[in-house]
Amino acid sequence: MKSVFRYRHSLRQRFILTATMMLVPLATLIVIQYSVFNSTITHLNNVIEHSSFELTNIKQLQQAIHMAVMAPNDYIVHGNVNERENYTASSDKATATINNMLKVMAEHPDELDLLNQVDQLWRQIEQKALNILATTNPVGNNAMAEEMESLDALSEQIAPILEQMFNIVTLEIAEESEDADHLRNIMIILIIGGTSISALMILWLTRTLAKAVVKPICCLKNAANRVGDGDYSTCLSWDRLDEIGELSKSFDAMTEYLEKAHTKLELLACQDSLTGILNRREFDRRFSNELSRAVRYKHDLSLIMIDIDLFKQVNDKHGHLTGDYVLQTFATLVEKTIRDIDQFSRYGGEEFVLILPEVGREGARILAERIRTLVEGTSFGEADGEPVHITISAGIACYPNNGTSEKEIIDSADKMLYQAKHSGRNRVDCAD
Ligand code: GH3
Ligand code: MG
Ligand code: MG
Repeated sequence: MKSVFRYRHSLRQRFILTATMMLVPLATLIVIQYSVFNSTITHLNNVIEHSSFELTNIKQLQQAIHMAVMAPNDYIVHGNVNERENYTASSDKATATINNMLKVMAEHPDELDLLNQVDQLWRQIEQKALNILATTNPVGNNAMAEEMESLDALSEQIAPILEQMFNIVTLEIAEESEDADHLRNIMIILIIGGTSISALMILWLTRTLAKAVVKPICCLKNAANRVGDGDYSTCLSWDRLDEIGELSKSFDAMTEYLEKAHTKLELLACQDSLTGILNRREFDRRFSNELSRAVRYKHDLSLIMIDIDLFKQVNDKHGHLTGDYVLQTFATLVEKTIRDIDQFSRYGGEEFVLILPEVGREGARILAERIRTLVEGTSFGEADGEPVHITISAGIACYPNNGTSEKEIIDSADKMLYQAKHSGRNRVDCAD
């Protein structure tokens, strides 16, 4: 199971990176929106402030000029000197308003130009008005009436200019209102677009991260299940450098250790601890298999049961440890004598059993006789200053002549062994 990924960064680093990447589009969106919003609102504020200042002043100037023109007019009609005071009040107000407006018009050349025209006309009106008001006999004075007419004409020229200024400001407000609408649309696009991009990015990053973590964990779970089922060949061999890579390496090391331990256990479970040859349990299993095979392929199969003669005396005379040594040496001797496919087991105590696949009665008898002679002529170490010698008795039974089941063949071989014992020991007896 090879991974297609090669993760170089730790999961911790990737979690931090992902969280940062999730925040980046959101933060960018907020910064852009804030700066666009802030600059536009500031600009709108300035425009509104300027427009309201200008509209108020235009209105005020219109009123002041109107009142100022009324004073000389009333003076030549009624001759009331109080009109001089009325004029002064209105005239001061008009002059102050014009000066006030001139101060802030530098950034608006169109309006400044118009205001300068108003200023010039106002100065001419002022001169004519002062001239009229200075007259001592205004009523019925033709010269003053003419002067008043020319003053009215000047005053009528101011009205359309102020009107024009008013229109410019109104237009400016309309344009700004359009800009505000435009800004609102941009903000909506930014919010929808930015949120969508952020959402897609978050989805993609979450999916990538989940893939990097969840997928290997599922693989690990399946691999653990396979190991649990006894498949120790399971190996992850993931080529990644993060925590999951480390986990997979630990998992592989654990599986390898388990495989070795399992093989060792299996070996121990079928081995006799004293002699190292197969034990009784393994004999039962293998004999059953060999018999099935012999039945299936119609082959011969022989079984030799061996028992060491008077072994109790060896123990009694030389001690248990010598007895153990004799058993071990005997097992090694027989193992060296037989073929690879023959299977030699300790049946129990000092009894042994030999399975000979594809060997008939005569072949088994020859081998048993060879083993018997070999044992008879072998010295099994020394004890109490003298060599230890033993003999064996053997009983042979064959498939299919002496039985077709495991029990029948074992019983038959056992009977032959019993017969060999009762016939004087150190001999081989074969079932008919
Ligand atoms: P026979 O010729 O009739 O078989 O006589 P025998 O003495 O061999 O038979 P018996 O059944 O009387 O005694 C078997 C002896 O084998 C008794 C037991 O102490 C000994 N023995 C069985 N297992 C072991 C073992 O693992 N180590 C040692 N040292 N002795 C064992
Ligand atoms: Mg014995
Ligand atoms: Mg015995």
